[in-house]
Amino acid sequence: MSPFGSKRTLSRRVFGTVFVVAFAAIAVFTVVGSAFLQNNLAQVTRSELHDEAEIVAAALDSTVNDIAVLERVDIDNTRLTLIAEDGTVIYDNQEPASQMENHGQRPEVIAARETGHGSDERDSSTLGEVMLYEAVLLSNGQVVRIAQAQAGVLSILLSFVGPLLIIAAVVIVVSFFAARRESRAIIAPLLDVDLDHPKRNMEAAYAEMVPMLERIESQRQELKQQMRVLADNDRMRREFTANITHELKTPLTTISGYAELISSDMVVDEADIKDFGSRIYREAGRLTSLVNDILTLSNLDEAERSESNDAASVLGSTEPVDLPRMLETVQQRLEHVAHKSDVAVFLDAHPAMVIGVPRLLDELAYNLASNAIRYNRPGGSVVLSCGIDEGRPFIRVEDTGIGIAHDEQAKIFERFYRVDKSRSKARGGTGLGLAIVKHAAAFHGATIDLESEPDCGTRITVTFPVQVLPSVTD
Ligand code: ADP
Repeated sequence: MSPFGSKRTLSRRVFGTVFVVAFAAIAVFTVVGSAFLQNNLAQVTRSELHDEAEIVAAALDSTVNDIAVLERVDIDNTRLTLIAEDGTVIYDNQEPASQMENHGQRPEVIAARETGHGSDERDSSTLGEVMLYEAVLLSNGQVVRIAQAQAGVLSILLSFVGPLLIIAAVVIVVSFFAARRESRAIIAPLLDVDLDHPKRNMEAAYAEMVPMLERIESQRQELKQQMRVLADNDRMRREFTANITHELKTPLTTISGYAELISSDMVVDEADIKDFGSRIYREAGRLTSLVNDILTLSNLDEAERSESNDAASVLGSTEPVDLPRMLETVQQRLEHVAHKSDVAVFLDAHPAMVIGVPRLLDELAYNLASNAIRYNRPGGSVVLSCGIDEGRPFIRVEDTGIGIAHDEQAKIFERFYRVDKSRSKARGGTGLGLAIVKHAAAFHGATIDLESEPDCGTRITVTFPVQVLPSVTD
């Protein structure tokens, strides 16, 4: 039994087909041949009988003693009968004439009387035999008839049974070996297929196998690609977890260190206690920002994987968002930080609306603006602008800050990637701001365009697709 439990084998199928075709061909040939042979034999016999009947008739016409002539006629396996005008049998070489019934109504006798010559063919009582009759009218009105048995189709067929059985046995043996050889030859290219590299077998394979091999190859490539993506995802997930753990631990260690100092009465100076307290407060703030950013990113990840309805339940529903008003609130919220960093923030807002999740769009603009201030220099400036360019709404944040080196520009959107770690931390960065920008933009179908020159400044533009805004009804 095969490992898959199927009892069907190719050689059995091929054997069946070869045997059935060969045997059917022989059987048809035998039946048709027998009928043809029987017909030919009957024709020859009929013609011989006809000639013999004519000779006997001529002999009888030229004599007075018919019976004496008939008794001298000796033709093998032939029945000779002389019939009087009224149908009475005068002579028969096989039965006593007196015991024979009247032959006046026999078709060959009737035909002989009418045309001078008659013939007929009737099934004999013997299985599969026919009797051929030839009758000739004599000049004295009597009819002489010659009859001979002829093998029928069935008896000829029966005579073939013996040879046919031998032929069938030969056909079985030949079919068996032919099927074995043929099925091995058929299967060989299939067995040669290397499923790990189906393309290699294309040339040797049957043409019918090529679509299947191509399909296997494409599925193999798809599988490889999916495995690569899975491996990448797995690597990113592990890196992300390790980073989160590290990022969370750092402020927690600081907090618990200062808290321990205060609680163990080791710090007595009022000013020191105040200083430690504010440090704890700052680290707790960092922790809160970090947890918020992680939550936002995880919601964005989940929304990317889910259907649009589920995305709304994760991130909040979409609605028309007025970009100038949004940038204005972002500017106000960052006023204090900008003032502390000695950076001037300007607004260049033109009317523009985007259908989106307000919280996400706000976070996107806030993170860009916050970076523009934090990675700026004292006396520098930031311009927050929005508007519509070729029908597409955009938000742009431009600064005169430290800029980003060209080889760093693709990396800064990765989670926890910072060009200068200490500077980022010193300025309260979580390393997740631009990752949130990237995913929030993708969620809204927007593209991000980054232009930056080290020591000159950075310009980041987020361009949304053309918006179909709901019509306003009073
Ligand atoms: P962070 O919390 O560290 O600011 P982000 O994801 O917002 O994290 O930014 C990643 C890194 O990209 C930053 O650490 C910084 O090095 C760089 N960066 C982002 N925005 C700017 C900018 N406007 N100018 C210069 N560098 C920037």
